[in-house]
Amino acid sequence: MTFDYDDQNIFAKILRGEIPNQTVYENDHALAFNDINPQAPVHVLVIPKGPYMTLDHFARDASPQEQVGFMQAVAEVCRISNLEDGFRAIANARGHGVQEVPHYHLHIVGGRPMGRMLQG
Ligand code: 5GP
Repeated sequence: MTFDYDDQNIFAKILRGEIPNQTVYENDHALAFNDINPQAPVHVLVIPKGPYMTLDHFARDASPQEQVGFMQAVAEVCRISNLEDGFRAIANARGHGVQEVPHYHLHIVGGRPMGRMLQG
């Protein structure tokens, strides 16, 4: 599997500061910001700062420090967003996963019951 990262994708532009975002949390390795089209009261996207396209790309090639930093950002987002009652984490990948933006991102959605996991 080869990954050909496109540095013109919208999240790369957000990371470079070329497009504004509503930042929820940031550390050395990850940025978390509100989704522009929220599907729930809480809908935060957590992205690595490195050029990774998908979860499997990130899991294979990101350094341990990047992976720990990313997961620490997930923990902070859950804490900041008051998700004690639960949440769903979604990582869409490539065509079958209906991924729109080719920079790895984890959707953290919650703030209401999320329904069953898969539809259709
Ligand atoms: P995907 O289908 O790739 O998993 O989800 C991409 C997500 O990025 C969508 O939920 C979409 O609303 C969000 N999104 C797309 N463009 C922007 C943007 O410019 N800013 C923000 N904050 N979110 C975006």
